[in-house]
Amino acid sequence: MSFDLARVRADFPVLSREVNGQPLAYLDSAASAQKPQAVIDAESRFYQHGYAAVHRGIHTLSAEATTEMENVRIQAARFLNAASPEEIVFVKGTTEAINLVASSWGGSQLQAGDNIIITAMEHHANIVPWQMVAQRTGAEIRFIPLTATGELDLSALPGLIDSRTRMLALTQVSNVLGTVNPVKEIIAQAKAAGVATLVDGAQAVMHETIDVQDLGCDFYAFSGHKIYGPSGIGILYGRKAMLDQMPPWEGGGSMIANVSLTEGTTYNAAPWRFEAGSPNTGGIIGMGAALKWVADLGLDVIQEREQSLMRYALDKLASVPDLVIYGPQQRAGVIAFNLGQHHAYDVGSFLDQYGIAIRTGHHCAMPLMTHYGVPAMCRASFVIYNSEEEADRLAAGLTRIHRLLG
Ligand code: PMP
Repeated sequence: MSFDLARVRADFPVLSREVNGQPLAYLDSAASAQKPQAVIDAESRFYQHGYAAVHRGIHTLSAEATTEMENVRIQAARFLNAASPEEIVFVKGTTEAINLVASSWGGSQLQAGDNIIITAMEHHANIVPWQMVAQRTGAEIRFIPLTATGELDLSALPGLIDSRTRMLALTQVSNVLGTVNPVKEIIAQAKAAGVATLVDGAQAVMHETIDVQDLGCDFYAFSGHKIYGPSGIGILYGRKAMLDQMPPWEGGGSMIANVSLTEGTTYNAAPWRFEAGSPNTGGIIGMGAALKWVADLGLDVIQEREQSLMRYALDKLASVPDLVIYGPQQRAGVIAFNLGQHHAYDVGSFLDQYGIAIRTGHHCAMPLMTHYGVPAMCRASFVIYNSEEEADRLAAGLTRIHRLLG
C-alpha cells in the first residue's frame, strides 16, 4: 500500500494552522499527539447524541453508553492481542497504570529485601511509583545501565537478577533517545528467573504493532493522548492471572460486589475492581476512534513510513554545525539534541518564532540528563503526519540559530 501523506495530514485539522506567521511544524507529538477528525467527531457525537452515566443504568442511553465503552475494551484487547477483554483496565494514562501496578501488585507482593529492576532511561512515571512502593515495603531498586550510544547495557542484567528480584519494569522505547529496547528478549530472561514484568509502552504503541502475548509481559501500559486519542485516558493490560490475584487500589463505586457497614465490602472481578468511580467515558470512546484510525492506516505502513522519515531527519540534522544528537542511529519517534552550549529553552524559543514546535527540558527523565551531564535537551518528534519539509525547516532553523547566537 502506498503512503499518502497529504491525506493523513488532512485528517488533522490543527496541522493547517499558522504559528507566528509560519505554517505550524508540530514536532512535539511524543509529548502529546494531535487528534484526527475521527477522534474529535467520536467524542462530540457521544456528547451530542448518547451521553449518560455508564453501568447499572436501566435506561437506553446508559445501556448504550455502557456497550460503547465495553466495546472499546474489546477493541483495545484486539489492538494489543490480549487473550481477553478482561485483561484491559481503563486508566487515566501510563502514569496511573504504573501507579496501579506498583501500589496494588507491589504493595501486596513486595517484602523487605526484595528488589525491582528498572533502567537508567526510564521516564519518571516508571521510576517514582516504584520508589514509593520500595520505601513502603523495604524493597530495593536496581537499574540496568546504559552504553555510550544510549542503549541498555544488557551484559549487566544477569548480575542484577537474583532470587529476590520480583519485578522488571522497563520502557519499550525511550522518550528521549528513541532507543527501541529488545523487550521480548529481556522479558524472556526475567521470566526464566520467575520475575514479573511491566512494559511502559507510552512511546511505542504509535510506532509498531504490539502483541502482548508474543512479548510475554505481565503488564503493558500506554496513554491515549500519545496515540492520537484524547488525554486523560489510557490502558493497562494485565495478564488475567496477575490481575485476579491483585487487591483493589482505589475504593468507591463500581469496584465492589457488596458493601455492608457491618460486614465490610467484597470486590468486583478484574478489570472492574480497578476502575473505581465514574469513568472518562467520552475519553474511552475517543480512544476507541484513535485505535481504529491507527489500525485502519496500518501499523506496518506507519512503521515503514516513520522509519524512512527518521532516517531523512537524522541525515538533515547531521549538517547542522555544533549539533549534538543523543541516542542510537536506529531509533523510533524522537531526536534529542543540544546546539553547542546554548540552553535548550533558548533554542526552543527561537524555533517557535519560526513556527516549529519542539519540547525542551529534562523530559521527565532526570537520571538520563545526569547520565549525559546536561541540564536539558531539545527534542523533536517525528510521527505519521510529519513531513520531510518539516525536517528541512528544523535543520534550517537550527543552522540559522547557530549563525545568530554563535
Ligand atoms: N512513559 C513514557 C516513556 C512517556 O514518554 C510518558 C509521557 N511523556 C509517560 C510514561 C507518562 O505518560 P502520561 O503522562 O500520559 O501518563
